[in-house]
This record gives sequence, structure tokens and C-alpha cells, in this order.
Amino acid sequence: MSYFSISNVSKFYNDLPALLPFSLEMEQGEFLAIVGESGSGKSTLLKIMAGLEVQDAGEVFLEGQPILNPNQKIVSGYDEIRLIHQNFHLYPNSTVEENISRQLLHYEKKYAKSRVEHLLKLLGLTDFRDRFPRQLSGGQKQKVAIGKAMAVEPDILLLDEPFSSLDTIQTHRLISELKEIFSELGTTVIFVTHDLDDALRLTDNLIILQKGKVAQKGTSQQLCEKPKTKYVAQLFSPINKIPETKNSFVRPADVKLRTKGGLLGHVTDLRFLVHFNSLQIQLKESGVTWEVDDSQRKYVVGDRVYVSWNEEKIMTL
Ligand code: ADP
Ligand code: MG
Repeated sequence: MSYFSISNVSKFYNDLPALLPFSLEMEQGEFLAIVGESGSGKSTLLKIMAGLEVQDAGEVFLEGQPILNPNQKIVSGYDEIRLIHQNFHLYPNSTVEENISRQLLHYEKKYAKSRVEHLLKLLGLTDFRDRFPRQLSGGQKQKVAIGKAMAVEPDILLLDEPFSSLDTIQTHRLISELKEIFSELGTTVIFVTHDLDDALRLTDNLIILQKGKVAQKGTSQQLCEKPKTKYVAQLFSPINKIPETKNSFVRPADVKLRTKGGLLGHVTDLRFLVHFNSLQIQLKESGVTWEVDDSQRKYVVGDRVYVSWNEEKIMTL
């Protein structure tokens, strides 16, 4: 049996499915991201994994031992599996240091002190140890929440949308810090998010969750280049249907723009984006409109342009 295993777990709320039989096997030290839109069952899944929610069917095992749900255990939850909520749950009247050390009240004093020092250093919070949560930035609060959860040396850390209250710059900075911290600690981490881009920055081990079901599992390259469904394909970019085919599609970035050779069209719209211009091109023969990336920012509205693509970039969906 694997280190952490979820076997056919399902959950309904008022007869509506939140999670359909979901199974997962993880090895120790693995770092997994689960990506799904709001309402896809991410928080429900994490709560069941942590023993904080009663499932309708299925079981969770850590190192072969069943994780008991709140109906089966007097005090819900486990020190071995810690869930970090998106709104941090910090003690507002305790300092950064106290927030972390309060987790260790039952531990030997000397050990607790050195553990807190270690975490403050690891998380870059040493200079902020005497501040209260209200005196911290969103990213710093998130790190205190992680420090709290890490204090008891959990085997598994579950992060529920940890970046939802941070801006893009803060998120990217925190992601690179967390990657280092988690790999240093060797903790098994499951992170859920609605944001595919955040997930891709953190790990290459992904599950796409759609309406309580696994839509696809794989590396970023597998999901991007070999999506099994249109839903998965469209998480990465818009897709363009190749005229006169039934189910062949190509991504905007894989379309080549030329002055001759391919399908003729003309630019009907242009959007200036961060790394490229996004063009709408209406194809002449089929009348279909494609979305393509003009990385050279070469074309303007009204231009005639030919589109072509490499056969190996075609996705069959
Ligand atoms: P996510 O975290 O991906 O946004 P959730 O796990 O929170 O999704 O919710 C999955 C589905 O279950 C949603 O349709 C949500 O409305 C429903 N749900 C979640 N918690 C409850 C609850 N306590 N009571 C009733 N329905 C719930
Ligand atoms: Mg949620």
C-alpha cells in the first residue's frame, strides 16, 4: 500500500454530489496540485483527507492506518495531517512567535523553543516575530499559517487555496520560497487551487478536478499537449478547431503566421497582452474565427495573413 491513499471516497450534500468516487495514491515527499474551478469539490476532498469531514463512502489511509472521520473519533483531525485554510485562522491577539509556539504547548520546552526558532528562520519571519497578524502583509500571514501547521511536524500538509488573498507578485514570490521550504523539509504536500498558473509554478504533478471527478492526472506537459477532453485543453489556452475536421484543434501559440502558405484569413481584432499580441483572425474559406498569438507584434487589424501549424501540435479532442 502507498504512503497516503484515498480509496473511492464520495460525498453528497443534500443529495447533490460534491465528490464522486475519488481515489489517489501518494508516496512520501510527493508534491501534488489539485486544480478545479470553484465548487468542484476541492475543499470537501481536503477536509475528508484530514479527517475533518464525514464522507459517504470510501476510506483514507496514512501508512496503512485508517484516518477516522468526525463520526468515528472524539477529537476530529490529526497532528499528522494538517489542513491550512485559505483565511489563515491566526490568533489575532498573539504575535507571530506566539501563533507558532501555541501549537507546541504540550511539547518539552527546550524542543518547542528550538522548533519555533527553526520555523521562523525557515519562513523568513525572524524579524517579524513580535508583530501581530494585523501588522503583517498577506504573504507574511500565509507564512505564519504554514508555520503553525508545520510546528507539530505533520507528515502531510494540505493547503486550501493558499494564495487567494495575495496579488500576483506576492504569489510568485511566495511560491518560489515555498518550493524551497517544502523540498528541504521533505513533507508530503497537497495543494488545491482554482488557478492553473499557480499550480504549474509550484509542481509538475497535477490532477484536474471537474464536478467532483478527476478529469485528468499527469504532468503539465501531458495535460497541455495531450489533454483528454476539451475542458482540460481549455484550462491552458483557447483552442482553434481546424476547418473540415471533426475534432482536431490547435493552440494559439502553435499557429504559425505567414504572408503566404496555409489558410488565408484577415485580422479582425487585436489585443495587446503581456508577452504577445492576441489576434482574432477570420479564415476566408470557412468563415471561422481563430485566436492566435502574434509574438512579434507584427500584424494589425485588417492585415491579410496565412495560418498554418505543425501536424504534431494537433490535439484530437
Ligand atoms: P471547492 O472547494 O472546489 O470550491 P467545495 O468542496 O467547497 O468546492 O464544494 C463542492 C460542492 O459541495 C459545491 O457545490 C458546494 O456548494 C457543496 N458544498 C460544500 N460544502 C457544503 C455544505 N456544508 N453544505 C452543503 N453543500 C456544500
Ligand atoms: Mg474551496
